[in-house]
Amino acid sequence: MNDQVMRNLSYGLFVLTAKDGEKDNGCIINTVCQVASEPNTISISVNKQNFTCEMIRKTGCFNVSILSENAKFPTFQHFGFQSGRDTDKMKSIAFSRAANGVAYLDGDEVNAFISGRVLHSIDLGSHMLFIAAVTDGEILHSDPSATYSFYFAHIKPKPEAKPAAKKGWICTICGYIYEGEILPDDFICPVCKHPASDFKKLE
Ligand code: FE
Repeated sequence: MNDQVMRNLSYGLFVLTAKDGEKDNGCIINTVCQVASEPNTISISVNKQNFTCEMIRKTGCFNVSILSENAKFPTFQHFGFQSGRDTDKMKSIAFSRAANGVAYLDGDEVNAFISGRVLHSIDLGSHMLFIAAVTDGEILHSDPSATYSFYFAHIKPKPEAKPAAKKGWICTICGYIYEGEILPDDFICPVCKHPASDFKKLE
């Protein structure tokens, strides 16, 4: 099997937010799908290492902010490359609250939000799959939604120079470098939580 085949699937990009007590948090996900129309139902899949996943398991509530083609790389770094366990990610971010009390991003990088209430949770190993009733949602801007391939082509900065001095493996998602000749099969990127199959050997 070609390990890269999954990359040909098409995805959107979203900021997933949750609130547990006074704690607001969010992370980047690429897996939001409408899975039924009557009743209106979505599925989301979240890496279990994300603090937001833990919060949704506990509270059963979340919002999905749909990132548009206007989204900037620092937003992906902000929500994707640090943990809400150590920082207050919402502190420096423009957001409003939906009827469920959970934050959604309302700056010009987001074109809509959807609120979900968890109906079913399925443990899939690395990720939790949540099936959720759509309880609310608004369109905020008319900019097209960003896709995963748009992100790689137009949002993620191109590496300026090859890190020639370093030997090892680079995470093709976030640029983290694992220094070592052999990358363990079960290695997980400490920054973006992607698996070993998303690493490329530095030549
Ligand atoms: Fe990474």
